[in-house]
Amino acid sequence: MKLIFLGPPGVGKGTYASRIGPLMGIPQISTGDLVRGEIKNQTPLGEKIKEYSDKGLLVPDEVITEMLKKRLEEDDAQKGFILDGFPRTLNQAGLLENVAEIDQVINLNLADNVLVQKISARRICRNCGDIYNIADIHEGDIHMPPVLPKKEGACDRCGGPLYHRDDDKEGVVRERLLVYKKETQPLIDYYREKGILKDFHVNAGPKQMVPKLMELIKGK
Ligand SMILES: [Zn+2]
Repeated sequence: MKLIFLGPPGVGKGTYASRIGPLMGIPQISTGDLVRGEIKNQTPLGEKIKEYSDKGLLVPDEVITEMLKKRLEEDDAQKGFILDGFPRTLNQAGLLENVAEIDQVINLNLADNVLVQKISARRICRNCGDIYNIADIHEGDIHMPPVLPKKEGACDRCGGPLYHRDDDKEGVVRERLLVYKKETQPLIDYYREKGILKDFHVNAGPKQMVPKLMELIKGK
């Protein structure tokens, strides 16, 4: 099964992808992780990406697609995969079509005010990018418990220090949500028209939502 997870910042795309992947026996592929890996390993592609970001330029979609293509050719991705963080725009979706035929696009969504609370409470590992959340949200029918690391301030995966990104502070978050909607709505419309989009409303923590999400993916 070849899946894309879409959703606004803070909805938990990465978390859901990392839980659903092992349940389905397919890898979660995050372009953010891939970029970090290429740069860390100083591959030719990593050097190219670093040049763009050092100049403060966006990495061209073609470069990201090239990196993704390489990853999708690996053995563990032959049965399928979950893409998390790509595509974000129609242009990227077009490029992706040359590389893979997607079966389903899962559109995760959650109310804006809850997203803002959630993102502002996000803590990220400085080493590996793993994400935690210190907010305990009760709002209408929505209850989202925090996702705390086992040891306060340290990443479960690698032990690295957790921090609060400037990007995750409230004013910036509202701006990011606006940008996301503007950028991604055409993508949502596009996949809906193709008949492969499924909406999923998040209203609880991953523990309750993961089984429901599995049902949605497996159902016709
Ligand atoms: Zn870590």
